[in-house]
Formats: sequence, C-alpha cells, structure tokens
Amino acid sequence: MSGKLTVVGLGPGSPEQMTAEALAAVADAGDFFGYFPYIDRLDLRPDQRRHASDNREELARARAALERAAKGGRVCVVSGGDPGVFAMAAAVCEAIDEGPAEWRDIDFSVVPGVTAMLAVAAKAGAPLGHDFCAISLSNNLKPWDVIEKRLIAAAEAGFVMAFYNPVSKARPHQLGDAFALLRRHLPGEVPVIFGRAAGRPDEAIRIVPLSQAESGMADMATCIIVGTAETKLIERDGQRPLVYSPRYFKGAGA
Ligand code: SAH
Repeated sequence: MSGKLTVVGLGPGSPEQMTAEALAAVADAGDFFGYFPYIDRLDLRPDQRRHASDNREELARARAALERAAKGGRVCVVSGGDPGVFAMAAAVCEAIDEGPAEWRDIDFSVVPGVTAMLAVAAKAGAPLGHDFCAISLSNNLKPWDVIEKRLIAAAEAGFVMAFYNPVSKARPHQLGDAFALLRRHLPGEVPVIFGRAAGRPDEAIRIVPLSQAESGMADMATCIIVGTAETKLIERDGQRPLVYSPRYFKGAGA
C-alpha cells in the first residue's frame, strides 16, 4: 500500500511566516526528512520520527523519503522558504522521474512557503513590484559562465534580480565578480538590498548602491535583491529607506 509524501515549505525562519497549510501537513505526518536545521525548527510529537541529513544529500534524502512513503508511511520532506525554490521539491520530482514505477502511485503534494526573496523584499518596501527573476549564484549544479550569461541577460532586459546562495567558503570570489559584471551593465546608483536571516532573531537588512556593493556584505544566509535603473529609493529620517520598483515602466534601463 502506497503512503503519502508532502514536500513542505517552512518559510524563512519565523514560525509566524509558516502557512496554516504547512502546519497542518506537519501535524499529519509521521516521518520527517530534511536538512537538520530545518528539522530542528519543528516542534514534533514523540510519535513523529526525524530523519535529518546533511545539506548536500538532496537526492539520497528524496529517495529515502520516497522509499518510506512507498511502504505506507505518511512522510514530510521539509525545506526552508518555499520547497520549489532551489530546494527539495525538484529533487523529489527528479527521484520520482528516475525511480521505480511504484513511486508514481504515491500520494504526492507540495505545500508552498514564503521564499527568502519575498521575506527580504517585504522588509525593504516593494523592490519586486515589477518584473523580476531569481538566480542561484551557486555553481555546484551549473557552470559559472551560464550564471554570468543569465546575469547580463537579466540586467539588459531590465529585471530586478534576487540572488540565492550568494557565497560560500568554496566560492569566495563569485559574488564580487557578479557585482563587477553588473556594474558594467547597470548604473552605479541602482539599490542593492542585502537581507540576512530574514524572519529570524538575527535578521539584518542593509541597502547600498551597486557602486558600493561588496561580497563581504553577504553570507550563505543572505538573499540579495539588485534593482534596475527604474527602482527607486525613498529616504526617511531615522528609518531605513524604502526601496520600490514602480508598477509603470517609464523607459529607463531597457
Ligand atoms: N527554498 C529556500 C531557498 C534555498 S537556497 C527559499 O525558498 O527561501 C538557500 C539560500 O536561500 C540561502 O543561501 C539564502 O540566499 C536564501 N535564504 C534562505 N533563508 C533565508 C533567510 N531567512 N533570509 C535571507 N536569505 C535566505
């Protein structure tokens, strides 16, 4: 008898930013698979089992979860933010695509969550108020020259960009290279928002012009939003400025 597998987005960090649907899916499951800090966020009952694993083991984790569900388990695979954004939902789909036919009979669903760029954007105003895209700067799963092409194409097309996975110990230079590349395609005054640990107690939001953006301003818990020539900044006395991308296209930067 096939069981159930639900991939659940836990939001950026704060329990208030988890959806009611995600809370219900967690309450309904018996087995939890995920990267250990996400599993640790859950307030599980004694009858609910944790199967925490390292971050780099996404496909193996997806297969283990599917095996458990195929045996009749009620399984939750958890991701931070939204599970479809650079996270476990694609890994589970890939495992189903390549796995045994019986995995297609599993009752499979994805519960969305508040993704990092939305949590960061909300803190800054409305930087994603018009067309935008999301780019992972990690070259673990794609070559750096593809990332560079996408950065140039997005800048030239006038998209606001949200960067996920901006830096890591293994990739110390790439964010600086990305800013240098963007400075050749965008005006220096374009606002850049560094949103670190959005929704968590150590949250930090910093806004600088592209001309001053540096890789040292980000770590792996940071989501960066780079505006366009259209994006505006409203200075406020004693408060963080507001950043917004106007709803009407006026013609700059495209
Ligand atoms: N599925 C997640 C993204 C996973 S990729 C989501 O939808 O948010 C991991 C990257 O997400 C991190 O390197 C960082 O860029 C971003 N991120 C995750 N949580 C964050 C948070 N609370 N604040 C800022 N950025 C975050």
